Amino acid sequence: MKDLTSKQLEKYEEILRKEKDETQGIINDINDIQKRGAKDGNGDLSSYSMHQADMGTDTDNAERRVYLLEKEMKNLKNINLALKRIYEKTYGICEICGDYIPAKRLKIIPWAKLCISCKEIEEKR
Ligand SMILES: [Zn+2]
Repeated sequence: MKDLTSKQLEKYEEILRKEKDETQGIINDINDIQKRGAKDGNGDLSSYSMHQADMGTDTDNAERRVYLLEKEMKNLKNINLALKRIYEKTYGICEICGDYIPAKRLKIIPWAKLCISCKEIEEKR
């Protein structure tokens, strides 16, 4: 196993930054919708209409919004932690066993902090 090259780290950083922007956008959207719901029509939702389309027909479903918001906040936290690991050069290393996380896994979950086997053990706990 070898270290991630700085080129690879840069690539992951870019991916993570993009994810972060998107996630932040979704969070802002949901907050806007919540505010608008409370104030009745005061919020201005110009950009991010795509994400709203994603949230789709369920925009009145407050429960779903809360669930989404919680999910996105958790993602954002994980993305920030992953960015921190990039700066500390510990990105891509499993936090439990210290092994390298396969690139295949990082492609799917760029903020993964555990390798697959440790993740499975943790989930069984
Ligand atoms: Zn591990």
